[in-house]
Amino acid sequence: MASITKSHDQLHVFFFPFMSPGHQIPMIEIASILASHGVKATVISTPQNVSRFEGTINRDDQQLINLLLFDFPSAAANLPLNCENLDTIPSRNLSYNFSKAIMMLQSQADDFVRQYQPDAIISDLNIPWTAEIAQKYGIPRLVFHGTCCFSLSLSMAASLHKPNVQVNSDKEPFLVPGLPEPVYITLAQMPDRFFGNTGLEEFFQKFIEAERHTHGAVANTFFEIEPEYVKHYEKVTGKPVYPVGPVSLFNAKSIDVADRGNKPSVDKDRCISWLDSRKPNSVLYVCFGSICESAESQLLEIALGLESSKASFIWVIRDHRHGSGEFLQKDFEERVKDRGLIIKGWAPQVLILNHPAVGGFMTHCGWNSVLESVSAGIPMITWPLFAEQFYNENFVLNHLKIGVAIGVETGLAWGEEEKNGVLINRDRVAKVVTQFMNGNDEVEGMRKRVRQFSETGKMAVGQSGSSYINIGLLIDDLLNQKEKRLSE
Ligand code: UDP
Repeated sequence: MASITKSHDQLHVFFFPFMSPGHQIPMIEIASILASHGVKATVISTPQNVSRFEGTINRDDQQLINLLLFDFPSAAANLPLNCENLDTIPSRNLSYNFSKAIMMLQSQADDFVRQYQPDAIISDLNIPWTAEIAQKYGIPRLVFHGTCCFSLSLSMAASLHKPNVQVNSDKEPFLVPGLPEPVYITLAQMPDRFFGNTGLEEFFQKFIEAERHTHGAVANTFFEIEPEYVKHYEKVTGKPVYPVGPVSLFNAKSIDVADRGNKPSVDKDRCISWLDSRKPNSVLYVCFGSICESAESQLLEIALGLESSKASFIWVIRDHRHGSGEFLQKDFEERVKDRGLIIKGWAPQVLILNHPAVGGFMTHCGWNSVLESVSAGIPMITWPLFAEQFYNENFVLNHLKIGVAIGVETGLAWGEEEKNGVLINRDRVAKVVTQFMNGNDEVEGMRKRVRQFSETGKMAVGQSGSSYINIGLLIDDLLNQKEKRLSE
């Protein structure tokens, strides 16, 4: 990729990705993109996390990204060893300890900034102390949120106008005012409630405070998919927003796509040849993201629903407690072997989604997954679980109109998944999957629309596309900030 401006080599940016796949993957891609424009990019993370992406960033012996290693305070935070990523902690009950460990990294980060004197910090929202460090050293901090401007705007409007206080019923839709269009949500869909017993609220307040000392935001979205929300979010925060995505589209080589984020637990060639044997648009890809937890009974209903749908499918099971698939009936895999591929562990998601045999994605609506589905031109069956995933679902169903809902009305409280039991039974799974994969005018309309978004997304990251231009504007902004600082 060609450089946009002349003097990028003068700019040194520190990247602090939050150690969870949905945050880390796009942030490493953003660091790579800036590095490919000549910016000196340094990623600060822990040894285990670096081992996940080191191969991808240093391919072709081209040392594009510099790495600095944190010593992760597992013992001090009462975490088991080797739990340096949210997807490796053995229980949700340890998510508080995990956040505590993240908070303890501040002094190491401070030392790195003092020693290497970067010109700017791009930090995940979940690492609030980067705001303090940026302020201390007089450099700008930009925040990376990992979700779309629609959901950010919706969360902000809900906390500003508090339309929920008048509502009595969990499932009664109410209007959230102050948005570019009327948006209705329910109490059961609001993100805070999913973290009720985890103690994490203590950190959420810090994230909000950190925003005050934040120069702007970098977002993995593209302008054309949500122009009114990019503009709205910029207006309500009063700070620049740089949509630079879909960042997954910047991976030019298939090896980078296959290894993206982690080593896949399925042989890439086996996966491709299995897909090659299927008809176009005939396979449903089912994956609930990188940190999902479900009740065993719910997983069983999914299995039996997929079986009786008669659709071809790839199902990724990467639930901590049930990831080995022991809950499945012994002969389940045998029964579906002609049309079902089960991946236990990490799937090469973007590689799969871009295969012509894949015609649908049953997704938990993590923003990366939504955007990867859009980029591949695949309509979705939406099954949100927690956090802002219900807001993303709202965007997919009501704004983009590129998905159908499985019908889940309330999400999973962290740590209480087993208590929630079955939210969607096998009959419902089978019915929605069958109707969706058999196709009808409605689904075909969605397919057409999502393909148009896919084309627009590809144009956005291409030379002179909106995201490409935004990368240039971001770099120019940071260079201006640097000049201003040096002339003071
Ligand atoms: N992912 C993957 N293989 C898996 C599970 C997840 O490649 O088996 C990737 C997926 O492509 C996406 C990220 O992990 O980029 C998950 O992010 P998302 O925002 O969709 O959900 P989260 O995991 O944060 O809930």
